[in-house]
Amino acid sequence: MHALKIPLVDLRTQYLALKPEIMNAIEGVLDGMQLFLGPELHKFEHSFATYCECLYGVGTSSGTDALALALRAYDIGPGDEVITVSNTFIATVEAIALVGATPVFVDIDPETYLMQWQQLEQACTSRTKAILPVHLYGHPAEMEPILDFARSRDLYVIEDASQAHGATYQGRRVGSFGAIGCFSLYYSKNLGALGEAGICTTSDPVLSEKMRMIRDHGSRVRYCHEVMGVNARLDEIQAALLQVKLPHLAGWNAARQSHAAFYNEHLLDVVEAVPVVRSWASHVYCYYVVQIAQRDQFRSALEREGIGTNVHYPTPIHLQPACAKYGYTPDMLPVTEAVAERIVSLPMYPELTPEQLQCVVDAVKKHVVGEVSAV
Ligand SMILES: *Cc1c(COP(=O)(O)O)cnc(C)c1O
Repeated sequence: MHALKIPLVDLRTQYLALKPEIMNAIEGVLDGMQLFLGPELHKFEHSFATYCECLYGVGTSSGTDALALALRAYDIGPGDEVITVSNTFIATVEAIALVGATPVFVDIDPETYLMQWQQLEQACTSRTKAILPVHLYGHPAEMEPILDFARSRDLYVIEDASQAHGATYQGRRVGSFGAIGCFSLYYSKNLGALGEAGICTTSDPVLSEKMRMIRDHGSRVRYCHEVMGVNARLDEIQAALLQVKLPHLAGWNAARQSHAAFYNEHLLDVVEAVPVVRSWASHVYCYYVVQIAQRDQFRSALEREGIGTNVHYPTPIHLQPACAKYGYTPDMLPVTEAVAERIVSLPMYPELTPEQLQCVVDAVKKHVVGEVSAV
């Protein structure tokens, strides 16, 4: 298979632009030979937390681990329920299952694709312990009513901000609303390591300490294990690389926003829906998601033109075989299920050039119009 002319995500361009600094950072760690829980981690935790308007950052080995760590910090486990959405990456739900708790799904807003907070009431039971909204695609979930509901029922709120590094809700950064924010730093996210990484943000010193302890085998002092923990540390090489990249995040997000504005302008009347941005939100476009009726034919046509697309996500989580035991069946989350048939993500990364953007727009126009006869 030949390489796509315009891939969905291009990691090489960003890497080449930062190569000298990246190499320097790796060399620095290797020369010092402190590979875990060292100065790079502390620096990155501090700068990322500050960026997110939080006091503490707790680096983890992945976003999935960050979510599980947050749940463990609240002692959420067997018998507990956590309300979340089905329109997300499996990891949101895996983390709930990993700690032994049960995911409960609510539907999504048909325009933003995010948690429909109006359904929290009916999803809440005496076993509900937490709400886990996801800031999917880079747009914040509507936090105020979620936080109000949580307060009224004494529930914890943990944010899955894995696709929304730097996005704001009412002018404040995501990751700072729930008591804990969880971020993946997987290499294709808005801020990505060159391997596996994640981080939890919080302003609560007790939660911060507890997460630090659990992520390192339940110990604060070596070989003294206060609780059963896990190995979920963020290593020094990844932390050093992330420290090199973090100062660029704001500029990269601005570039994504400008690309999205270009797509919106040219595709508004072409596709069935371009991304919506609520007045209280800023969107950082981890993915640029549109709706197209003949989605699968459209994707093949774009691939023939050398343009990469993807679907985030083709099968809602509640209908995945892995979730069979939770008892969900088709039609239980009608909005989630309906949009899964129509959504498609177009190429989106900061380094897209004006020519590439135009090329994507031209191809979309050609194939949305031509799709019926092309089948
Ligand atoms: C990427 C992602 C995760 C998981 O992160 P990993 O670092 O891959 O473990 C969790 N939730 C969402 C919404 C994600 O996009």
